[in-house]
Amino acid sequence: SPIIMWFRRDLRLSDHSALNAAAQTGRPILPVFILDDLVQSLGAAPKWRLGLGLEAFGRSLSQAGSRLILRRGDALTVLQKLIADTAATAVYWSRAYDPEAVARDALIKSVLAKQGVKAKSFAGHLLFEPWTVANQAGQPFRVFTPMWRSVQDRDVAAPEAAPTIIAPSRWPASDNLADWNLSKEMNRGAAVVAPFVRPGESAAFETLHRFLERIPNYSRDRDRLDVQGTSDLSEYLSLGEIGLRVVWHAVQRAAMNGAKGADAYLRQLVWREFAYHLMYHTPHLLSANWKPDWNMFPWNTDANHPAVLAWRQARTGIPVVDAGLRQMFVTGRMHNRARMIVASYLTKHLMTHWKIGMNWFADCLIDWDPASNAMGWQWVAGSGPDASPFFRIFNPLTQQQKFDPDREYLMQWIAEGQADPAATALSYFQAVPRSWMLDPRADYPSPVVDLAVGRARALAAYEGRKNG
Ligand code: FAD
Repeated sequence: SPIIMWFRRDLRLSDHSALNAAAQTGRPILPVFILDDLVQSLGAAPKWRLGLGLEAFGRSLSQAGSRLILRRGDALTVLQKLIADTAATAVYWSRAYDPEAVARDALIKSVLAKQGVKAKSFAGHLLFEPWTVANQAGQPFRVFTPMWRSVQDRDVAAPEAAPTIIAPSRWPASDNLADWNLSKEMNRGAAVVAPFVRPGESAAFETLHRFLERIPNYSRDRDRLDVQGTSDLSEYLSLGEIGLRVVWHAVQRAAMNGAKGADAYLRQLVWREFAYHLMYHTPHLLSANWKPDWNMFPWNTDANHPAVLAWRQARTGIPVVDAGLRQMFVTGRMHNRARMIVASYLTKHLMTHWKIGMNWFADCLIDWDPASNAMGWQWVAGSGPDASPFFRIFNPLTQQQKFDPDREYLMQWIAEGQADPAATALSYFQAVPRSWMLDPRADYPSPVVDLAVGRARALAAYEGRKNG
C-alpha cells in the first residue's frame, strides 16, 4: 500500500528526511500538494511564486519517474479521500511551525490515527527544532546572541541524497495547476516581473554555488545596496527548494577553507532559526506587539492614510525608501538593508503600525516567510524581542550615503529626473496598476513628511509613551 507524501513548503527531492523515510520503506509513494485555505490566504506575490515552484517541482518529480498530484480543499478531507481511493496506510510530511499550520496538522494527525492511518511528521524546514534549543534556565531564547552561541557548534547531520521514488501502480486524478490560477492576485505586469525569478531545486543549487564564490566578501558587502553581496537564497529557503543542511555544510566547508564571510553567513541563517523559535514559542509574534507595553503607542492604524498609500506606491519622496519599495514590487525581493530603511521610515517617520508594513511585505515578497517577516518588522519598530531601540531612527539620507555611495541603487530604481533611466527603473512603471497613475516622466515627488519633523514627532510620541 502506498505512502502519501504531503508536500507543503518543502518542494525538493534532496536533503528531505520525510521523503527519504518514505522511500526507505520500499513502498510506492504518492506525492501530493493540497491547495487549502492556508495556501489560499497567501499574499499575491508569494502565491504566484508558489505556482512557479509547483510547476518546477512537478517537472522534477516527473523526471524522477513520479508525479505531483494536485488537490484542492480542506486538507483532512482531501487526505481522507485519497486514502480511500488508493488504500494508502500512511501520510508523511515535513513540519510547519506557524500556529495555524500546527493546529491543522495536529488535528489531521489525531483523526488519521483513529482511523488506523499512520501520520508522521519530520524535521526539514529548520536546522534546529524549536523545542531542542533552550537557555540555561531551560526556557526559550528571547535574545539572539546567546541562541547563536548555543547552536553554532552543534553537529548538523549531513544532507541526504534524493532517493529513488517508487511509483504507485495506478495514479489518482490530479487538478491542473493552471486551473488554480495562483497568479490571479498579482495585479502587475507578469511579463515585467517573471524574468527576475528562477524557481526550483536546481536553480537553488546554482544560486548557492554562485554565492560560495562571493562568500569571502560577504561580511564586507552584505550591507551594500549597490553590490550583489548576499546569497539571494531566501526565496528558495522559504519554499524549501533547497535543504538547510545542504547550505550549512557547504558554508561550513567554505569556513574551513578560510573563507572569512562564512561565519557571518551561518549567523544570518540562525537569525532565521531565531525567528522560528520565537514564532513557535510565542506565536503572538505574528499578530501583536511582542512587548505588550507597546500597545499604548499612538501608531497610525489607518492603512489608507495618504502617507501610507504613498509608501506602498513607492512615492514618498525619499529616494532610498522608494527605491527599496520599487525593487520589491518588481522583483519580489528587497535588500535586507533596504527592508530596514523602509520599515524604519514607515514605523517612525510616518508613525504607522508595523502590521500595515508587514502585510504589504506579505503581499509583495517572493521570499515571504511568516516568522522572519514578523520578527523583522517588530525588530525595526522596537516592539519585538531583542529589538532595535525605538529612539534609534534611521536617517534614510545617511543610510543611502553609507550603503549606496555612488547612487547606483538609486539609479537602478528611480526613473524620474534621469535622461536615460535604467530598464529596471522603468519596469516599475510598467508593473504598477494603471489606477496608481504613475508616470516616469513626471517630477520626482516631494517628501510626504519632512525628515526632521517626522523624526521629532516620533521621538516625542516615544517619550510620551514612556512617561504616560
Ligand atoms: P543573506 O544575507 O544571504 O542571508 C542568508 C539567509 O539567512 C537568508 O536567505 C535568510 O533565510 C536568513 N536571514 C538573513 N537575514 C535574516 C533576518 N534578518 N531574519 C531572518 N532570517 C534572515 N526574510 C525572509 O526570508 N522572508 C521575509 O518575509 C522577510 N521579511 C523581512 C522584513 C523586514 C522588515 C526585515 C528587516 C527583514 C526581513 N527578512 C525576511 C530578513 C532578510 O531581509 C532576508 O532574509 C534577506 O534580505 C534575504 O536575502 P538573502 O537570502 O540574500 O540574505
